[in-house]
Amino acid sequence: MGKVRKKNLIRRNLILRALLDHGQLSLTELKLHTGISLPVVTSIVNFLKEDNLLIDVESRGPSQAGRPPSLVALNGAAGYILGIDLGRTNSNFILLDLAQNLVADVRTKSLNLSNEISIIEDLHREIDSILENADVSWDRILGIGISVPGLVQGQRGISETYLNFGDRPVAQVLSERFGKPVHIEHDAKAMTLGEMWFGAAKGRQNVLCLNVGWGLGLGMIINGRLHYGMNGYAGEFGHLQIVPDGLLCYCGKRGCLEMYASGKAIARNARDKIEKGAMTNLATPDGKEVDRIDAKRIIEAANGGDQFCIEIIEEAAGYLGFGIAQLLNIFNPELVIFGGRISPVKFFLNPAISAAVKHSMTHLNKNVSFETSKLGAKSGALGVAVLAARELFEVEHLNPSAYV
Ligand SMILES: [Zn+2]
Repeated sequence: MGKVRKKNLIRRNLILRALLDHGQLSLTELKLHTGISLPVVTSIVNFLKEDNLLIDVESRGPSQAGRPPSLVALNGAAGYILGIDLGRTNSNFILLDLAQNLVADVRTKSLNLSNEISIIEDLHREIDSILENADVSWDRILGIGISVPGLVQGQRGISETYLNFGDRPVAQVLSERFGKPVHIEHDAKAMTLGEMWFGAAKGRQNVLCLNVGWGLGLGMIINGRLHYGMNGYAGEFGHLQIVPDGLLCYCGKRGCLEMYASGKAIARNARDKIEKGAMTNLATPDGKEVDRIDAKRIIEAANGGDQFCIEIIEEAAGYLGFGIAQLLNIFNPELVIFGGRISPVKFFLNPAISAAVKHSMTHLNKNVSFETSKLGAKSGALGVAVLAARELFEVEHLNPSAYV
């Protein structure tokens, strides 16, 4: 790419990204956000309007002196972004327009996550159905964001645990198959981005976002930025060793927190205790149904008043709270968000908070807020959709400081 073209591309992307991050901006605000001079901002904005990527919007009201400044915003009708939050058995799909308006609200589909290449066809089928329902054609899709559990290096497009098809990064394989830019992100990080852009973490600087579902994930906002660590793996909270020489975890270590504080842990603990003779309405007297007990059935029984199931949930919450206490002491967050399917369960949140406070230092826990996610199942798909949109206007690899 020629130097002039590259410079123009950087400036264009800086402007588009500023509008993605801040919504409507005046030309002067765009100058401040991008560091590009006003005449150049004006000229690029005019080009972008001709390309239908930007539109004029109504002013936010009269300014203190004279005519209110005219504002520009991304044109929602310019195209669409798909956000897909892949879970081990269920996946959430969402469709946004370029201005981040919800076009199709979250839809949950059952998909078995694996390393079989055939999953691409399953994904394609689900996407087709979402687009058909929303009356949006494939050629209007500008980008796709996909979040995946397990070990993920989002920046390099690599997923280690799932969608690992061999040597090539999955983001590259999927981009070629779908003919669209595909961005990959770790599930708990995508959820944290969703909370950062649309949810409880908006405008907050130091936040821990927990994903308590079948497994246990964590995203960390440190000084206003999502923390990735050297390879993108930061936040493997579920594999914090909580019980020395405890249960064997799938990661190969023993006593990991996820084995005690997750949907999977709740099911395993209940089954173990029932086999040892615990009294509960959950199991048939002959014990034949024990293998089929899952977290969902335990939660239903707890909500119905089954004391054994309530205690199983409280026990998992206690372990999680103990783990959170270690995080409070280390990170000193202002907010802890409880996301994932287990978090809103009755009998879970209160004992978790209680244990977090009990086991952490008073100075580090007395001002922290604990909230359940209001975005719920949507947060991951929203987060990864916006991430995919931001990647369309990517500037980092172009070394903007050398050109702007
Ligand atoms: Zn582990």
